[in-house]
Amino acid sequence: VQISFAPNHICEVAVTDSRGYGSLQQLLSSNEAYDYDLIVIGGGSGGLACSKEAAALGKKAMVLDYVVPTPKGTTWGLGGTCVNVGCIPKKLMHQTAVLGTAMQDARKFGWEFDETVKHNWETMKTAVNNYIGSLNWGYRVALRDKNVNYVNAYAEFIEPHKIKAINKRGKETFYTAAKFVLATGERPRYLGIPGDKEYCITSDDLFSLPHCPGKTLVIGASYVALECGGFLAGLGLDVTIMVRSILLRGFDQDMANRAGEHMEEHGVKFLRKYVPVKVEELEAGTPGKLKVTAKSTESDEIIEGEYNTVLIAVGRDACTDKVGLDKAGVKVNPKNGKISVNDEEQTNVPHIYAIGDILEGKWELTPVAIQAGRLLARRLYGGSTLKCDYVNVPTTVFTPLEYGSCGLSEDRATELYGQDNLEVFHSLFWPLEFTVPGRDNNKCYAKIICNKLDNDRVIGFHYLGPNAGEVTQGFGVAMKCGVTKEQLDATIGIHPTCAEVRSQLFRFTSVFISFLPSIS
Ligand code: FAD
Ligand code: NDP
Repeated sequence: VQISFAPNHICEVAVTDSRGYGSLQQLLSSNEAYDYDLIVIGGGSGGLACSKEAAALGKKAMVLDYVVPTPKGTTWGLGGTCVNVGCIPKKLMHQTAVLGTAMQDARKFGWEFDETVKHNWETMKTAVNNYIGSLNWGYRVALRDKNVNYVNAYAEFIEPHKIKAINKRGKETFYTAAKFVLATGERPRYLGIPGDKEYCITSDDLFSLPHCPGKTLVIGASYVALECGGFLAGLGLDVTIMVRSILLRGFDQDMANRAGEHMEEHGVKFLRKYVPVKVEELEAGTPGKLKVTAKSTESDEIIEGEYNTVLIAVGRDACTDKVGLDKAGVKVNPKNGKISVNDEEQTNVPHIYAIGDILEGKWELTPVAIQAGRLLARRLYGGSTLKCDYVNVPTTVFTPLEYGSCGLSEDRATELYGQDNLEVFHSLFWPLEFTVPGRDNNKCYAKIICNKLDNDRVIGFHYLGPNAGEVTQGFGVAMKCGVTKEQLDATIGIHPTCAEVRSQLFRFTSVFISFLPSIS
């Protein structure tokens, strides 16, 4: 039995079972003073999960979602970044590129078809966007079915318990709630150089671009840049990636460089150690022609290049600056707009919570936002005590050769534990599927980092190869359970697969041995 006094003097009594769910709650409540028990600002991955869970637990919940159009005028429907301009269109376009490679392989497996195989951007774009449209519709229906009041309006605090909602016609409506959840996500950052907003696009525009982007310069070298550059090259486009410093900051640099090398070997050009200084239009059109001037980060060298499209992917800014957080008293990091929360996603204002991409120092991933939102609602209204665990979150970068990881990079593990206390096991491998077409021999790679001080517990898993997301997910579960090297070795693999490489990892000091999982 848990008795707590909520900040707004509501006495909450919860009887919880062993899983943390409540069966008797909120015997006393004074929430009638407000329009809603809970208002969620932002209808993306985190906000939808949280509001639906709150309503399922019997609370009167509202979610507001509004998409401010990009400088190019692109806008989209309900569901936030992941569904409309993130994970979903990205993975489908990555799949388009994977199919292109599969078609080349297919000839080696005996398939015969015309020599000229073309890709039609408009067909892909329309198919992907139709699917997104169906998801947008599905979200609206789900909110209605679960009794969540959805309002398509931009929300802004005017008092700690009161927001103003402005719809696209400019009409203002006011709502109050006992509690609020901020789930406003992020939007792409621009460079602040001449011509960026006028002539360049971001990932927010790319997935619904009406025309094929043509010769493309991608600026930036993290997730978004490498994934988008990767699939555009996979569609046969001429792609250059301008890198300011390193690839995939924060990830294992050995793995990041291998993913980059593979892209380079497959035609992607890298302009390393340059930053753009201006973008000019040479010709208007769909696509037009742009001139980009860039300068070296190491010397005074200036370079120029002509491209049809310039895609800016230099990070994303938290959408926290126009939400009236000052009126509610919520503290924001002035440097990056991020919000700090305690381990229950509570901000410095007790009745205001925050989840998802806007959180300081947390993962910017859809499943993380969903988990945090759902568990928050269960703690607030279901008597649960379960908190979101942000440690050992598996993730995958969908570069042409996909990179999946969980836990620490080798660089970070060395910083934390010292090289002498780590044992690194690794192997290059050649997936069976690549053997007949004879491609990418020994380009795939797997590595685990074990802590010698803790029974050789696996503290880092890294995999570069096909289906990285599917492979990494299982290792994520194992690492949550604290898997050790010995336990990995004792697990019998599935043959012939790439995931079985785990059973054939060698000590880092060993000579590399290339092998075929299929005949091992
Ligand atoms: P969002 O999903 O961004 O939702 C926030 C919503 O709030 C938006 O709809 C926004 O318009 C709305 N909003 C903002 N301010 C207001 C306001 N004042 N009033 C009303 N509404 C407002 N993650 C993965 O796990 N896997 C991937 O493969 C992956 N790929 C990605 C690819 C790209 C190109 C990008 C950009 C991101 C990708 N991500 C991926 C990250 C993932 O999309 C985000 O982590 C996730 O969407 C965050 O969810 P959220 O709820 O915090 O915010
Ligand atoms: P990041 O903030 O991770 O990376 C920004 C990149 O842009 C870095 O390479 C950075 O270089 C570069 N950069 C920054 N400023 C400049 C500049 N002025 N000129 C040139 N280059 C610059 O942003 P992303 O947008 O790639 O990703 C945001 C988040 O979205 C990620 O953290 C991730 O969690 C999520 N995401 C997840 C995906 C997935 O799960 N597969 C896919 C895509 C996104 P430098 O290293 O020098 O600072």
